Formats: sequence, C-alpha cells, structure tokens
Amino acid sequence: MLKVNKLDVYYGNIHAIKEINFHVEEGETICLVGANGAGKTTTLQSISGLIPKSGKLEFMGKNISKLKANQITALGIAQVPEGRRVFTGLSVYDNLHLGSFLIKEDNTKILNRIYQMFPILEERKNQLAGTLSGGEQQMLAMGRALMSRPKLLLLDEPSMGLSPLYVEKIFKVIEMLREEKITMLLVEQNANLALEVSDRAYVLETGKIVKEGSAKELKNDPTIKTAYLGE
Ligand code: ATP
Repeated sequence: MLKVNKLDVYYGNIHAIKEINFHVEEGETICLVGANGAGKTTTLQSISGLIPKSGKLEFMGKNISKLKANQITALGIAQVPEGRRVFTGLSVYDNLHLGSFLIKEDNTKILNRIYQMFPILEERKNQLAGTLSGGEQQMLAMGRALMSRPKLLLLDEPSMGLSPLYVEKIFKVIEMLREEKITMLLVEQNANLALEVSDRAYVLETGKIVKEGSAKELKNDPTIKTAYLGE
C-alpha cells in the first residue's frame, strides 16, 4: 500500500533521514521505534507531505513524492499528530466534524462508530476541546483522523505524556483498529507497547533503519531488548 524508497530529509545541514526504505501492506500495523530524535516524526511528516524531502513515495500505486499535504490527505492518508493538535477553541463535535470535510456522504455512521470507540467524546461533544484532558484530546485527535475514513492512518507517539490509564485505553483502541484491518503506521518511543500491537517493525537510529522484522522477532532480539525494552 505504501512504499518508501530512499527517503532522505535535511533540516538545513542536519541530515535527519538517510535514504530509508520501508513498506506498509494493506491491513498491516507497522511500527517505527527509536529514541528521541531518531527521525520518527520526520518520517511521518514526509509521508503526509508536510516537509520537503527527496526519494520516492508510492501510495496505492501512485507516486505521491511531489504531492502537497492536502492532495495526500485526499488520497486517504490521515495523520494523528504528535501532541494532538486539536482545535482547542472548537467543540469536540466540531473537531470531529472537521475530520470528515473531504467526505461528501452522510457521516453519521462513522461518527457513531467513533462515539462507540470513545464514549467520553459523545459525553463531551458540546464541550470545548481545550477543556479536555490530554488523554481525551488524544482520543479526539484519533477520532478526528478516523472521521475521514482513511486508508492509511499515521499515528505519532500516541502514548506521549499520558497517564498509564489513558495509554492503556488508547492502545486498546489501536488493537481494535488492527483487528478491523485498518492499515496503520505507528511511531512510538515506547517500544514495548508498540511491538505489542504491531505486525512488523522498523528500528530507526539517527535517521537510519538499523533493524526490521516481525514484531515478535524484534521483541525477542537481545540487542533490541537491551536498547529499547529496558531489559
Ligand atoms: P521525538 O520523539 O523527539 O520527536 P523523533 O524520532 O520523532 O524524535 P524527529 O523529530 O523526526 O525525531 O527529529 C529527527 C532529527 O531532526 C533530530 O535530530 C531533530 O533535532 C531534527 N529536527 C527535527 N525537526 C527539526 C526542525 N524543524 N529543524 C531542525 N532540526 C529538526
């Protein structure tokens, strides 16, 4: 579904991503794990068309390397950004509604499905998004992205800054989406959690992929255990 070939990104003279290759197949949940500054967010932003890059990116057989962010969204790639970025001055309902602005047909069905996944969003639908807790805002950001019925969902550090209870809730939903065969590319510093819900994984270190394999293999890999799993 997504093929990334020799993706290369510079910020001025910082070489943030160094010719990486990876792919995501339909129905898979793939994670990119790596320490702070490894280049995980940069990779997602390159796919979404938010930053300049070189290399070839193909989505469902189409070359998206030169497309703008809005064109990439229209093809069915939705990103849940790091730090949520909900519209704090708008209601929960309006935030969700904005997520489906590209969809012409009635969005009631998908809205109800999101309320089912995150009942708190229905309870708080008239509340300003800025008054939600961090965990609730993460749910809203995920709900907003799902409102566009994406073909590929990009999740940037969904566990960041959340209490263990919310982390658990968010990852339960990620597991549910995986069971529904929603294709996801997940970026996480918490490798333990990410490997738990993924099919395959790539390990990123200072802009390079240093290891890849099934989530199971990587969980049992001694070097990964020491470097990323706190064992
Ligand atoms: P984190 O979890 O801290 O967000 P990350 O793995 O997502 O880490 P990136 O944010 O992609 O890493 O950063 C990769 C590298 O690029 C880092 O060295 C970072 O300092 C640098 N970088 C990121 N954004 C910029 C920017 N706007 N300008 C300059 N350098 C940047």
